[in-house]
Amino acid sequence: MRILIVEDEYKTAAYLAKGLTESGYVTDVVHNGTDGEHQAQTQDYDLILLDVNLPGKDGWAVLESLRQSKPTPVLFLTARGGVEDRVKGLELGADDYLIKPFAFSELLARVRSILRRGGVRQAEVLRVSDLEVDLHKRRVMRGDNRLDLTAKEFGLLSLLMRKSGEVLSRTFIAEQVWDMNFDSDTNVVDVAVRRLRAKIDDPYANKLVHNVRGVGYVLEARP
Ligand code: CA
Repeated sequence: MRILIVEDEYKTAAYLAKGLTESGYVTDVVHNGTDGEHQAQTQDYDLILLDVNLPGKDGWAVLESLRQSKPTPVLFLTARGGVEDRVKGLELGADDYLIKPFAFSELLARVRSILRRGGVRQAEVLRVSDLEVDLHKRRVMRGDNRLDLTAKEFGLLSLLMRKSGEVLSRTFIAEQVWDMNFDSDTNVVDVAVRRLRAKIDDPYANKLVHNVRGVGYVLEARP
C-alpha cells in the first residue's frame, strides 16, 4: 500500500509519514501542489492525503487535474471547516475529508475505510515463511512464538515484509522508516536491522533478513 502525502507543513507531513509507516504503509511526501500533481500523475498510489492550502497549486486544483486522468482515492486534509469547502472537495471527487487538527487514530480509520471501499484490499496479514505480521493487531509471530517489537522495529519489519524479495537500500529504509535523508549516517539503519534480527532471526535456523553487500537489505525465505 503506497500513500502520497501532499502537505506543506513539514512537521505535519513528517508526523503523518511516521505514523503511517509504523502502521505498515509505504509513503512518499511532497510539500507543494505542483510536486503533488506530478507525483500523483506519474506514480501509482493507493491513496493520496492532500492538503488544501498549498503553495504552487492548491489541493483543489491538484484534485481537479488528477480526476481528468486517474481515480486514485483522495483524502482531503483541510483547516477550513466551512460546509461549502467540504462540499466543494467532495464534488471535485475527493473520497473523504478530515478537518485539522485531527487525531492520528481518526486519520488511520479514514484511510483504512477508503482503502476498503475502493476494493483495494490491504493485505492485513503479511507472511513470509513462518514469519507473520498482522498489521491490524500489530502482532508479530514467528511460528508459534509471539515477538515483542518496538514501534520502529514494527515499521521496519512491515516495510521489509511488504517489499519482500526486493533489495532495499539503506537510504530508502531511512527515508521510509525515519522520514529522514541521512545518506551520511545510514549506520542507524544497520543498528536497527541488527536489533530487529536479534528478535526475528537470531533464535531461528531459517534466516529471513539478508544483508546485500554495498546495497542494503532484503527479507526473503532462502532455501
Ligand atoms: Ca497547508
